[in-house]
Formats: sequence, C-alpha cells, structure tokens
Amino acid sequence: MVQATSPAAMLQTVSFVLSVGELQQLPPDSGAEVAFAGRSNAGKSSAINAICGRHKLAFVSRTPGRTQLINYFRLGESAHLVDLPGYGYARVPAAVRAGWEQLLGGYLQRRRALRGLFLIMDIRHPLTSLDRQMLDWLAPTGAPVQVLLTKADKLTRQAARRQLADTVAALARPYPGVEACLFSSVDRTGVEEARAVLARWLAG
Ligand code: GDP
Repeated sequence: MVQATSPAAMLQTVSFVLSVGELQQLPPDSGAEVAFAGRSNAGKSSAINAICGRHKLAFVSRTPGRTQLINYFRLGESAHLVDLPGYGYARVPAAVRAGWEQLLGGYLQRRRALRGLFLIMDIRHPLTSLDRQMLDWLAPTGAPVQVLLTKADKLTRQAARRQLADTVAALARPYPGVEACLFSSVDRTGVEEARAVLARWLAG
C-alpha cells in the first residue's frame, strides 16, 4: 500500500524496476499504476523527474535501446509509475510504428491496474493526432487523464493561459473529463498540482 503521507515524501521512494518491450512481459496486472505518455521531446522525462523530485530518474528511458520500451518505476510497496515510449518521430519505419501501436494501444486499452494517465504535450504544439490516438485508446476504460502542457515557461503568462483555455475547450467535447494544466520543469509550474493528482489517483 502507498501510505497517504505528503505526495513529495511518497515520491522519494521511487526506483527503476524494469523495461518491457512486449505486452506479455508486463508485471502482473495488480496494484496501482500511473502512466506518463507523450510525443518525443515534449518534456516527458523532465516532467517525471520534476514530479518525483529527482534529477535523472526518467532518463534511464533515454538510454540507447530503451526509448521504445515501457519503463517501470516502483513507488512504495505495490504501486508503479510507468513511463510509456515517446511517439511521433518524423521518420520511423512502418514496422516500428506498428510495434509501438501494439504496445501502447494494448497497454492503454487493457491495463486494469492503470489508475490514471499524465499526457505530456509541449504547450506550443498540443493535441497532435497521436495525442488524440492515446486519448481514444484510453477513453473506453474511463481512466482519468491529466494533460500537462509543458514548457509553459517558453510563453508569456498571458499566452500560456490562452493556450490552456484553448486546449481545455478543444478537449471538452471529444474527451469530457480530461483535465489540463500548465506545467514547467524549469520554473516548476504545475509540479505540486501534478503531485496532488498522482497521490489522489493512487489513493483512490
Ligand atoms: P522527452 O523526450 O519527452 O522525455 O523530453 P525531455 O524531458 O528529454 O525534454 C526534451 C527537451 O526539452 C530537453 O532539451 C529539455 O531540457 C527541454 N524541456 C523539457 N521540459 C522543459 C520545460 O518545462 N521548459 C523548458 N524550457 N524546456 C524543457
């Protein structure tokens, strides 16, 4: 069980467990998992590190050979954070794309332990077709989604707020219930909010 201490204290226990390249290799579908997905370079690794208060945690997933894998991090006794492979590289061979579609699609559609998904989007390029694909896969399960509009520090405050409002409006009809907030791993906007969401999902 994850003890309901402060989110920051809980996150200090996080540690890398394993990388998985096929659905059959996933750990038993029990306990509670919270996953992170996003387009490559959107800032997913930085967001995981900022939320966990660690510098290099998620960069394990960037080591050669691991970028297309699902990376598991243990949190407390029975919970996991799950770093899903980044998507959207311009030139991937069809076979690679088919592979991640199967892995990501299968995971999002069928993982019963999944308590919530953080979907990471660069605030300057939100809601790409592949971001929508993630939401379409997950929607039938009813699992909650929190969109983190990363790199908010790259826009003025006003432009960032406008982009947030536009994204919330674009999400509302096709994906009711999906929430969004500003995020920056540089100035730490949204970090505490994301920790609170994570703690709520794992407790619920
Ligand atoms: P990933 O491929 O989604 O895991 O992306 P990374 O976390 O590796 O980030 C990609 C690039 O964006 C790196 O150069 C990061 O330093 C930069 N980056 C990530 N998050 C932020 C942010 O919140 N603000 C700014 N300004 N840069 C960021």
